[in-house]
Amino acid sequence: MPRRKISPSKRLVIATRAAFLCEYCRTPEDVSTDVFNIEHVNPVLHGGTDADNNLAYSCGGCNGNKHFHISWNDPTTGELVPLFHPRKDKWQEHFSWSDDLTLLTGLTPKGRATMDLLKMNRPGLVNLRKALFSYKAHPDM
Ligand SMILES: [Zn+2]
Repeated sequence: MPRRKISPSKRLVIATRAAFLCEYCRTPEDVSTDVFNIEHVNPVLHGGTDADNNLAYSCGGCNGNKHFHISWNDPTTGELVPLFHPRKDKWQEHFSWSDDLTLLTGLTPKGRATMDLLKMNRPGLVNLRKALFSYKAHPDM
């Protein structure tokens, strides 16, 4: 199936709604070296549409690791669980920051599974978070 193109105006709506942060790892686009994408939360492969409630703003790393997955195993229990859904789930209920805002922890099976698949503590992200914290520019300060 050919890849569908999201219009620039729709992209801006989705990015603005996300405050230009990755809706998974919360990396700010303006300090990232990643290309940010409009991501289909429910992938097109699984019947996902271009409706706003199925689109999320995602850094290239999270988007690439998520790929076409909609579920993944909770690394604690091994149970297959749905991934975090930025339109339906509240981020703060599934993830938390370390005190220095550099490492994420999954609080729920869904949070842990999403962190595991998307590798949300990638070394480059952790280093970027350290810099953002030291410059008091972390988005969650
Ligand atoms: Zn991300």
